[in-house]
Amino acid sequence: MNQRGTELLTNAQIYTYNQHVADLARSMEVTVEYLPNYVSAVYSSARLTPYLGARIRIRAVTSALRYVIALHELGHVADNGLTLFNNPHFMLNDGPGATLAIERRAWSWARSVALDWPDVARRAEKAALSTYEIWRIKQRRRLV
Ligand SMILES: [Zn+2]
Repeated sequence: MNQRGTELLTNAQIYTYNQHVADLARSMEVTVEYLPNYVSAVYSSARLTPYLGARIRIRAVTSALRYVIALHELGHVADNGLTLFNNPHFMLNDGPGATLAIERRAWSWARSVALDWPDVARRAEKAALSTYEIWRIKQRRRLV
């Protein structure tokens, strides 16, 4: 595994990870929409659409990083914070701690179901949570 976690996996690993994400999604009745590779990973998302149900938008699982991000998005669906997450004003209106709590729950769900939790997963979780931590601090300063 290289520093960024983007090192290519073996075909067997790619197959196993994709299969795991697909199996979980199927059992949760979640539609998986695959984004083209040029779309940045930050656009991965989980949504609950009226009539269509839950869906996640991810890039094909070709690295350990993409695998854990896919699990994280499924974690949002598994979590009851998903409806809040769908509110476009959520980031602005909700209490500063709520976003962080929702992100933490999605990561811990991902960790609980993952076949592996490599270094890249630990770093991705930490980096993602610190992004929300920074946002929360900025939000606090604005409130003071
Ligand atoms: Zn998230």
